[in-house]
Amino acid sequence: MAKVNTVLGSISTDELGVTLIHEHLATGFPGWEYDALTVPYDREVIGKVCAEALGQAKGYGLKTMVDATPNDLHRDVELAKKVSERTGLNIILATGLYKEADGASGYFRFRSQMFDTVTEIYEIFMKEITQGIGDTGVKAGVIKVATGHGCISAYEESVLRAAARTQKEIGVPIITHTEAGTMGPEQAELLISEGADPRHIVIGHMCGNANLQYHSSVLEKGVYIAFDRLGTEPLMPDSLRKACIIGLLGIGYANRIMLSHDYTRLLGRPWPWDKSDSLNPLIANWSYSHVFKNIIPALKEAGVSDDKINTMMVENPRCLFTRE
Ligand SMILES: [Zn+2]
Repeated sequence: MAKVNTVLGSISTDELGVTLIHEHLATGFPGWEYDALTVPYDREVIGKVCAEALGQAKGYGLKTMVDATPNDLHRDVELAKKVSERTGLNIILATGLYKEADGASGYFRFRSQMFDTVTEIYEIFMKEITQGIGDTGVKAGVIKVATGHGCISAYEESVLRAAARTQKEIGVPIITHTEAGTMGPEQAELLISEGADPRHIVIGHMCGNANLQYHSSVLEKGVYIAFDRLGTEPLMPDSLRKACIIGLLGIGYANRIMLSHDYTRLLGRPWPWDKSDSLNPLIANWSYSHVFKNIIPALKEAGVSDDKINTMMVENPRCLFTRE
């Protein structure tokens, strides 16, 4: 039976159930911790807030959340354990590195002048998946990679190659960040060329654009695509995201699409939306529950069957994590 690493141990793929494939608990862009006026990090408080928000989604049937936070955006194993214990939800952590511009790329860019950093990064991924993250004993369950807008830098390419090598060896899924829905086909090609299996790749943030021809060009590679920023109206109106999802479902792609929100709490000084979501009506719906509360009912209203909803929310994540 296929096994998946969660923060509270390994489970079978049949136990995943309804899954949000790309969310976060809390994230901080590298540098937030050097802001002398930052809001101090309080794991207890953040844990309670996360647990309450996820508890609402659990009320709609959520069973599993993939926390797609890479190593360099303040991934917090203890926080994830607390939230998982408090909610009873499965939480799957990632091992991975963010895109060059906004991640902590300096270390490996410098080392790449002297060492084979594809191998070094591969060693990180293998260590965190097979032995655990730090000395926590908690093993990562997915690999997260990311690229910038309209190009894949040499650094990002080394991270993608390391991820593909890791997957080829131990079969763990890869989920990606694309910037504004660019470089999807290129990410898929690069990963597959290095030995990754398209059936275990999710090309993320495909709802960063509303171009069906583009979506099809990514799907043709045999990968999954994620409409995983639902509720972030300033990036792309949900109306267009829904139109794309309905269109792609209509031409037979239910078994290749997953839905999520990329929801997070951003660390640092207060952000405009921290005080009250209602202050910013454009992201008022952005939460772990939006897919269940608003998107799925709208899809059903448009004629999408329960069967196809189940395929996107349960079957696709299960297949993604199932190794042959
Ligand atoms: Zn994300």
